[in-house]
Amino acid sequence: MSCENFYRRIKKLIKVLILLAVIIPGCRSNTSAVRAVAMLPEVDSTLFDPQTFLCELSGRTVSESDARAIGQRYRPEERARARIIIARELRRIGLSPREHTYENGREVFYPAPGYYPGEGTARGVNLYAELPATMPTNDWIVIGGHYDTVLGTPGADDNASGVTAVLLVATELLRVPERRANLIFVFFDQEEVGLVGSDMFAQRLLDQGRNIITFHNIDMVGWDGDHDRDIVLMHGVSLVPPLDDRYMRLYTQAAQFLRTESGRDCRPGEILRSDTNRGEHITFEMHGIQAVTVIEEFAEEGDFNPYYHQLGDSCDRLDYSYLRLCADLVVAVVTRQLQ
Ligand SMILES: [Zn+2]
Repeated sequence: MSCENFYRRIKKLIKVLILLAVIIPGCRSNTSAVRAVAMLPEVDSTLFDPQTFLCELSGRTVSESDARAIGQRYRPEERARARIIIARELRRIGLSPREHTYENGREVFYPAPGYYPGEGTARGVNLYAELPATMPTNDWIVIGGHYDTVLGTPGADDNASGVTAVLLVATELLRVPERRANLIFVFFDQEEVGLVGSDMFAQRLLDQGRNIITFHNIDMVGWDGDHDRDIVLMHGVSLVPPLDDRYMRLYTQAAQFLRTESGRDCRPGEILRSDTNRGEHITFEMHGIQAVTVIEEFAEEGDFNPYYHQLGDSCDRLDYSYLRLCADLVVAVVTRQLQ
């Protein structure tokens, strides 16, 4: 069964359950089944088409000499172009994009010629949009992914896939009628040169006095070479506060919901835990914020995108059912957190 069929089925099921809720007094508020199904709002694919967007952001593999044609997002002008494309999609789905410009004087990792004319310090722009809660609160949930690339890659999987997933998540969470926390959707600059953008953004949120409940980072969710649909949840190592199993439980429960309710093509496999600092969850954790990275199965788990950081990381090689599945998983988790 395709994902489209799955959504049609969910829509039909929601209608039946709403009818039951009317017939059986108290059903809607007292049964977890109703609440569980209501976790996945109906998707309007006309609002945002993941594949078209991802291919625009990451370009097409044309030649190594034509950086723009491959959609590389390394130099300042390339990253500015990426922000224009992402901001346009945010507006299209009904959110207002804003820019967070920073400069911290830190030297970036591996600055190639042209990274910044005449300097190698960290100066960049995060792009974000806020979705307020439906009741007054200073609680915030952050969902994000980086939009920059290393030099010489279209960065379709790394990380146009995560950018696309964040937009998919935003599209679906906009439809949740009651939200007990504010949401921020953010696209980080300069992940590839030292996790700079996310670090600066986390600091800014705390400076503004916001109570950040969780950061869900999405980085590389377009490759599933062995088609097992396994998804990895990365936790940081040896940082304060130590993460408990809360997020593994949350994600595992959400996966179980998707597994029982979805069709074969978009049913999740295992949720695997990986304790590693290689992701932007670590910058938030270093600021004392609970954070995880959702990522495709990678080296340690036996499946690895062979085009990682290569010219071949192009949008025609990705698995869009898997990408959607990862986005659905985050939607299911955050919807539970919003209740
Ligand atoms: Zn990445």
